[in-house]
Amino acid sequence: MAIDPSIHPSVLVVEDSPTQRAMLQHMLEEHGYAVRIAADGAEAIKSIHAAPPALVLADIVMPEINGYDLCRRIKRDDQLKDIPVILLTALDNPRDVIAGLECGADNFIIKPFDQDYLLSRLEYIISNRKLRERDRSDLGVEILFAGERYLINSERRQILDLLLSTYEGAVRKSNELVLAQKALKAANASLEAKVRERTSELEREIDERVKAEASLRETVGELEAFSYSLSHDMRAPLRAMMSFAQILSLDHGEQLQAEARELLQKIVNAAGRLDRLIQDVLTYSRLLRTEIDLEPICLDTLLEQIIQERPNLDQADIQLRRPMPPVMAHPAALTQCITNLLDNAVKFAKPGQQAHIRVWAEPMDGFVRIIVEDQGIGIPRESQSRIFTMFERVNSSQREGTGIGLTIVRKAVERMGGRLGLESELDRGSRFWIELRKAKAK
Ligand code: ADP
Repeated sequence: MAIDPSIHPSVLVVEDSPTQRAMLQHMLEEHGYAVRIAADGAEAIKSIHAAPPALVLADIVMPEINGYDLCRRIKRDDQLKDIPVILLTALDNPRDVIAGLECGADNFIIKPFDQDYLLSRLEYIISNRKLRERDRSDLGVEILFAGERYLINSERRQILDLLLSTYEGAVRKSNELVLAQKALKAANASLEAKVRERTSELEREIDERVKAEASLRETVGELEAFSYSLSHDMRAPLRAMMSFAQILSLDHGEQLQAEARELLQKIVNAAGRLDRLIQDVLTYSRLLRTEIDLEPICLDTLLEQIIQERPNLDQADIQLRRPMPPVMAHPAALTQCITNLLDNAVKFAKPGQQAHIRVWAEPMDGFVRIIVEDQGIGIPRESQSRIFTMFERVNSSQREGTGIGLTIVRKAVERMGGRLGLESELDRGSRFWIELRKAKAK
């Protein structure tokens, strides 16, 4: 169906974005406008000269001839100047208004635009066109804005229209802003409520955890106390059994048959092993319960004392590399650690050979590493990590031991805030190390 321009006012849409163009065209045609389109300023000028439209709706940002230039050209042409020009703008800057006034634009539509608003503007401009032609006055005004001079030649009504549309746009923007602020406030309030709710949930959880931990600590403490007193109380009857078996063997051994004497000896040995086990468990329990206060310890003196006091170390060849730097330690705990390491180095010497042990200490970054090295049977790689766990032993059924010694060393070092480790090679020997904080030299 042909569109009659007398009934359907023709609108020239000048827009470089094909999507925007198509959208505007569709919307305007739906509302009874005869729409022509131009992709840029140059195409628009050609189209206007070919047949002047009732109104030009132009985007501002376009390559080469932008919306302002296009408007200026229309308004400077006596034949075309009565065609109203509406500019589509984001209105980010007051200069847009001045530039609009300066180029003689009739109205601004602020992007993103509201469809009803755009249509009402179009209708208003087209129906006021006649009125405006009568009301012409060529009043030129020069204004100064942001340090620049602008010459405004638009007519009074045109200026008013433009300013009103700007004002209306600004009001719309501010209303949108108020709505956005309200939405933001509501979102904030709900977020705050959620945070409050989650915080109190977390507080409750923490509270419960603290209580659970306290009760767990209490239970562990009770268990420790129980195992300590049990081990302690077991020692007396065990020692009595051991003593009676020994007395029996010494005083009445002659009257017993060889097999009975052998069995009696097995009882004495087993009771001795059990006694050592109880002693180790007691040492470990004591370590857990003792207050560990650190003090500067002279390693040279401590090692000398240990070697003098442990008869089993007599048979070993022990070389100390002195002087060693002082460390921060708990005297009893450190004595226990070094004693256990030395005992093991002797115990796990190669069968039939004397134990060769070297002990030295190296300062390292605020710590001192104490090293106990032997040339014994060594420990297979796959077993190295588990020997620090209670009762873990490696191929040592023939040797005396309870499997608690290194567990005590690990716990004591932990409690003194240190670290420990091991390097070992099967049949070559082992090197155990303990790192403790260095003590300040006096
Ligand atoms: P125990 O010596 O009473 O068996 P430990 O906890 O002291 O218990 O040691 C655990 C195991 O680690 C030992 O049984 C042994 O297999 C191994 N081990 C410890 N020290 C050495 C060492 N210096 N050389 C070889 N093996 C060792």
